[in-house]
Amino acid sequence: MATRAYNFFAGPAVLPLSVVKETADAILDFENLGVSVMEVSHRSKEFDRVMGEAQSDLLDLMGLSADEYSAMFLQGGASTQFAMIPMNFLSENQTADYINTGTWAKKAIKEAKLFGKVNIAGTSEDANFTYLPKDLSLTEDAAYVHITSNNTIFGTQWKTFPDTGDVPLVCDMSSDILSRRLDFSKFDLIYAGAQKNLGPSGVTIVVLRKKWLEVAKDNIPTMLKYQTHVDKGSMFNTPPCIATFVSGRVLKWIKAEGGLEPIEERNNRKAKMIYDLIDAYPEFYRGTVRDKNDRSLMNITFNLPSEGLEAKFVAEAKARNMLGLKGHRSVGGIRASVYNACPMEAVEALTKFMEDFYRANKAGS
Ligand SMILES: *Cc1c(COP(=O)(O)O)cnc(C)c1O
Repeated sequence: MATRAYNFFAGPAVLPLSVVKETADAILDFENLGVSVMEVSHRSKEFDRVMGEAQSDLLDLMGLSADEYSAMFLQGGASTQFAMIPMNFLSENQTADYINTGTWAKKAIKEAKLFGKVNIAGTSEDANFTYLPKDLSLTEDAAYVHITSNNTIFGTQWKTFPDTGDVPLVCDMSSDILSRRLDFSKFDLIYAGAQKNLGPSGVTIVVLRKKWLEVAKDNIPTMLKYQTHVDKGSMFNTPPCIATFVSGRVLKWIKAEGGLEPIEERNNRKAKMIYDLIDAYPEFYRGTVRDKNDRSLMNITFNLPSEGLEAKFVAEAKARNMLGLKGHRSVGGIRASVYNACPMEAVEALTKFMEDFYRANKAGS
């Protein structure tokens, strides 16, 4: 096997090496069936177990009961959830509250407007999303409140969530799902494209409080109705089998690591190493997030004194086997994504490189 690169891509992103190996094995032979996991019926008992365990492991890690919540493994990406949520839960005469904290929140807002009224309960667009808006103007009888827990492009992350009382709370956790302990029972719907922190692309995780379905709309296409997938256990039609398999293995990996507490502790340590370096040379490494308390543990965004130095940084990092450090095309700069499966050694290599790069280039800045 070729040397594994230090992977800082924002998504699709790093997976645990053990999971990559298990997947390689299952691609050659799944459960001694003499066929790969890509070649077996989703109705087989072997695959049924994969789906069932993925659902129960996910709820287990979130501390949620299967009586109250349904865990789904769907297709269409988080982007389809942007539309599916208002399609199921927002009527023309109702208002949903959205907190606008960046590119992905804006895309969610755009879809919601197709179905009902949208109140922007808070926004940081005035400062190009460099902070999280804390003063929210929530609608008393909103259909729901939508929040993005981690803003993958702008590098901000909510540490606490608004208390919405009886109003359902919906959260896009695409880029930090299962990265830390949270009271997941505060949420009525959690969704995430798997390809950042939980698996490969092609599968989307939805965790839904089943009771909310009592007020869901009914006149919508079968495939876009949550009730369909709850009733059929994500097997109404052919699910994304291999993506679900890999995500299921990642869930087992998290459990084997000891659950969310050690994962969170390691994520804190990794992020701190990089932020400490940024803060040690603030004239050179310029963190893009205004309020330090809003900084993401998953996507660490910063600028260098010039675009020329940023390009040089990315190129020299690549020569040291570090991939994916270029910031999102919409904002530029540097972004280091350090998801759950990003090992400590990768962060050590990056901070060592950042130190060396600073010493070699500070004079010219
Ligand atoms: C990547 C991302 C999305 C989009 O996910 P897709 O699965 O590609 O549709 C949505 N929200 C957030 C926070 C993301 O990081």
